[in-house]
Amino acid sequence: MIKFSDEQVMVRDMVARLAKERIRPVAIEAERKNHFDPNLLKILHENGLLSLLLPIELGGGNADLTTCCLTVEELSSVDGSVGISYATHMTGVFFIVDWATKEQKEKYYRKISQDGAYFGVVLTEPNAGSDAASIKTRAVRSGDQYLISGNKVMITNAGIAHVFVAFAVTEPGIRDKGISAFIVDRGVPGLKFGKEEEKMAVAGSSTREVIFDNAEIPAENLLDREGKGFKIIMSEFMKSRMLVASMALGIGRGAFEEAVRYAKERTQFGKSISEFKGIQFMIADMAMNVELARRMIYTTSEYIGHERVGKEVAAYAAMSKCFASDMAMKVTTDAVQVLGGYGIMKEYPVERMMRDAKVTQIIEGTNQIQRIIIARNALRE
Ligand SMILES: Cc1cc2nc3c(=O)[nH]c(=O)nc-3n(C[C@H](O)[C@H](O)[C@H](O)COP(=O)(O)OP(=O)(O)OC[C@H]3O[C@@H](n4cnc5c(N)ncnc54)[C@H](O)[C@@H]3O)c2cc1C
Repeated sequence: MIKFSDEQVMVRDMVARLAKERIRPVAIEAERKNHFDPNLLKILHENGLLSLLLPIELGGGNADLTTCCLTVEELSSVDGSVGISYATHMTGVFFIVDWATKEQKEKYYRKISQDGAYFGVVLTEPNAGSDAASIKTRAVRSGDQYLISGNKVMITNAGIAHVFVAFAVTEPGIRDKGISAFIVDRGVPGLKFGKEEEKMAVAGSSTREVIFDNAEIPAENLLDREGKGFKIIMSEFMKSRMLVASMALGIGRGAFEEAVRYAKERTQFGKSISEFKGIQFMIADMAMNVELARRMIYTTSEYIGHERVGKEVAAYAAMSKCFASDMAMKVTTDAVQVLGGYGIMKEYPVERMMRDAKVTQIIEGTNQIQRIIIARNALRE
């Protein structure tokens, strides 16, 4: 069994209660209507979850990576849309915590803790997904600002976030070494948004195109130095992939719990379907795989949380994300099977969980990309 600290257990239990009592009803309704409900932001802010990563003296929770993962797991166990939205916010805040200057931190920590600022991360382009180093969005220095031009797609929270961490090329022709990271406030001139995407999954989260049309970004909003953007992304992927792994764990666990509940209630041939070996073996496999993902995630989050970095750690994060999301896909599909025809019906949550699980195999680097990272590490001299 994994031993969590008293603080980690306290936050996990608080979020679990909040998720079941207040978030689930709003989130499920939002998913049905295919939009993010801003009331969810209010609930997250009121309960201190937007500033979980910030120092205590600035109104934060001083949370470690494990606590962040537990939070994402609990939220995702009731709804994947809230899970992806919140995990994205947390990733954005990690960029500030780990890379911002003292002045930038002062400004954005205040925005988060006092104003409830919500974050998005803006990297993917129409022709640059897995190959993130090939982005074309251009940032040109002009006096005391950068002018950014280019199109970004599939951006979570684009419809609702107040602040974005965005990536653009400051020096073309040298791929990853020419990419820089910027903090972008929603209201800046030249920043526009496309329509809400209609999605098969995580339909209760906001996903839009972000258009930079000579967007005016103050030079002081550069994160770290010019050309450091790709290094920043790569180092934060370790954490953001753990958050997506936790999202997958939450979805898989949620589906497993629904399957167990249903199996005990449903009778066929005069007895509970939980007495049939065919159902028991599926439940056993689900239990094993959820538990394996949990152990992999929380062992890795503790490891990364202790400031460990490098190729080997990146491989562990990749394994966690890849295993947990493949687990979530399999477990949610089996949960639908345990519920039989009712598994397909929107009245029950497992069809939504099955759709949401698919997203976790794609975001923060597809599982093909994770397997490349894992294999490269295994084959390294
Ligand atoms: C719901 C959702 C939310 C998202 N939110 C964000 C966000 O907030 N911010 C953001 O920047 N992006 C976001 N994305 C984009 C996401 O990061 C990309 O979809 C992902 O990185 C894959 O890129 P792609 O879709 O362009 O697929 P591609 O890179 O075109 O891949 C297509 C297929 O080819 C495979 N492939 C590609 N390269 C290789 C290779 N070398 N070897 C083997 N197979 C390969 C892939 O695994 C995949 O199966 C989101 C996407 C979704 C679906």
